[in-house]
Amino acid sequence: MTRATRAEINLSALRHNLEVARSHSHASKARLMAIIKANGYGHGIVEVARALSKADGFGVATINEAITLRESGVYQPILLLEGFNRASDLALIHAYDLDCGIHNEEQVAIIEKEATKNIKVWLKIDTGMHRLGFAPEQVKSTHQRLRAIDRVKQPITLMTHFACADDRQSDYTKQQQTAFEEITSEFASAPKSMANSAGLLAWVDTHADWVRPGIMLYGSSPFVGGKASDHDLHPVMTLKSEIIAIKNFRKGDSIGYGQSYTCDADMPVAIIAVGYGDGYPRHAISGTPVLINGQQVPLIGRVSMDMITVDVRDTKAKVGDEVTLWGEGLPAELIAEKAGTISYELFCGVTQRVNFFYT
Ligand SMILES: *Cc1c(COP(=O)(O)O)cnc(C)c1O
Repeated sequence: MTRATRAEINLSALRHNLEVARSHSHASKARLMAIIKANGYGHGIVEVARALSKADGFGVATINEAITLRESGVYQPILLLEGFNRASDLALIHAYDLDCGIHNEEQVAIIEKEATKNIKVWLKIDTGMHRLGFAPEQVKSTHQRLRAIDRVKQPITLMTHFACADDRQSDYTKQQQTAFEEITSEFASAPKSMANSAGLLAWVDTHADWVRPGIMLYGSSPFVGGKASDHDLHPVMTLKSEIIAIKNFRKGDSIGYGQSYTCDADMPVAIIAVGYGDGYPRHAISGTPVLINGQQVPLIGRVSMDMITVDVRDTKAKVGDEVTLWGEGLPAELIAEKAGTISYELFCGVTQRVNFFYT
């Protein structure tokens, strides 16, 4: 028997979410770079890029992802958000016509010495994320140095990334925005970019010339405690499986590894063919909802590699019934919260043995 675990990817929902993003960036006339790193947040990078062909560009994390896109016919600008790490990468960047995020001096030195073709760069400025990027006081000299390289196309785009845009109560985004605007004010003609999904939706003054939405395109809210439906976003991935057994246990029986759940009555328990081997989070707690025939039922006991167990009292559940783990009818944000994580990680964590279907 083939395993029932499947991820259904709704490409029209993806296109709908792109239109939602556009409707927000429209007023500000920002161009839209769809962020499709990590295999399109686990949805399949090529299918996602094709469905999002109306985006003005794509952002990825690795050269391999960018090459995969070019080889499948993607012609839009592709930005390597973190650029490259070694001189030998530059030949690939030239060959596949990729744009480069530049965040350290080593990268500048490599371009100075090794660039043999014209290259478009995005200068990354650290305004408070304190991860990658040039400190504010390094920006002027770095910009001058890049501008002096014949092979570097003009104008150089200036970018920064927010640490707390997902928290509407935090004033840190405003501080980062102000810092960015101060630093970049002397480069009036340079295109500028700040906003991720949360910036795009909640911080309209940060749209600038390019917005860089990721998670919202996949139909999840970027906000702490937020709901996709607050923004008319539709879920793109629905993770499904089926019931492979129903067992009737007695009051006092314990379920699964570590005996973490004990039946409080005689009760039927459904065994479902999904586990952390498929990317269902092992940290999902008892009580995490699972959808069977349109009804939410609680996970009980520990998540195993290949199976989970759910309480099917008060249901008509039977072997073979379809089960939704997240997606249509059951927001991934909710499951993520029960597992102490975020929907981004759920999507990226779906493993290779899950069959993907695109509609
Ligand atoms: C991942 C990423 C984004 C997209 O962030 P979301 O929260 O998914 O919208 C934007 N910009 C950069 C630099 C990123 O790394």
